[in-house]
Amino acid sequence: MTCGRCFARTKRLELHERNFRCEACGFADSRDRNAARVILAVAERGHVGVEDVRQSDHLLRVGGSVAV
Ligand SMILES: [Zn+2]
Repeated sequence: MTCGRCFARTKRLELHERNFRCEACGFADSRDRNAARVILAVAERGHVGVEDVRQSDHLLRVGGSVAV
């Protein structure tokens, strides 16, 4: 998973872990909110990687309120 604040790559969260915590900068938020932050930031920068597309697709189906 990628940190929505410093964009450091962190270990993959287990399915039961609902909260994301960055070991690099200490940023903490729910995993879905963090994922949304990452997607929005990536979209603004105009470069979307395969992994980010996969995450946004997941969010669009689950949340329904994130428009990329
Ligand atoms: Zn971070």
